Amino acid sequence: MPEEPPTRVDLGFFERDRHDRTRRWLGTDNLVRIQNATVLMVGAGAVGNEVCKNLGLLGIGKILLVDPDKVAASNLNRCVFFRPGDHDVKFKVDAVAERLGELATDTIVEPYPVPIQEAKEKVWDVDLVLVGVDNHYARYLLNAKNLSLQPPRPVINGAMGLDFVSVEVLTPPDTACMVCSWSKEFVDRLVAEQVRASCDPFFVDTLPKFPMISFITSVVGAIMAWEATKVVVGLEEWRQTNHWREGLEPAFGRFIKYDLRHHQSTSGPIMRNPRCSEAFCRSKRK
Ligand SMILES: [Zn+2]
Repeated sequence: MPEEPPTRVDLGFFERDRHDRTRRWLGTDNLVRIQNATVLMVGAGAVGNEVCKNLGLLGIGKILLVDPDKVAASNLNRCVFFRPGDHDVKFKVDAVAERLGELATDTIVEPYPVPIQEAKEKVWDVDLVLVGVDNHYARYLLNAKNLSLQPPRPVINGAMGLDFVSVEVLTPPDTACMVCSWSKEFVDRLVAEQVRASCDPFFVDTLPKFPMISFITSVVGAIMAWEATKVVVGLEEWRQTNHWREGLEPAFGRFIKYDLRHHQSTSGPIMRNPRCSEAFCRSKRK
């Protein structure tokens, strides 16, 4: 009698380990750094959803998530953690915290349903800041706050246009800050607009919302999470030796732009501005 072929395959040890593929891709020591890392994610919209999904799947230790808004039905075309029943009921940060927890059981998500300028001081006690907000005023405020810290945290700033995404990797004062490239006129207009918005809620309510679809936010979320991974695994070594981990060097002090229409990717340095409109940025240069 010929021997019966096996009818059942034992999945084996490696198939039962959720981090097996990540460990073999990144190395055990880097995975441990990721598991011990804490990041601040500012914005829990489409970009925040994607970044949290990616970093959660990777096994990041803790995400502090800040966003004052509730879920709207119009978010559902691009946000993996929102559900139709969340509309006007659930805060975005709570939806992400609850549902990322189902997926990434080792990751702790602390939700803060407030604007970043009203968040507790402890949200800045992190290794890295990820920015996924839809307005420049929030960037302006969080840049100033970050520059007041000792040392300022590395920042990964994501932005999108209709058919491109852009990511900046900044560690001021060693690199430019988030507003170094902004003109004084732009900042003046931004602040004036904010004064108007605070006096006139109708102005805010009637501002047209930017159109966006899921695969564009997926691209920006992927680039941000990849840069965050490289910063997290190499930050300690960089602070001590001024070198990033070989093969895992982040786009330090640079922007990465991806044009989805023509599939063209560009990257280049972001120049430090000695006349930056942010006073903390100027003073830290001296
Ligand atoms: Zn600056």
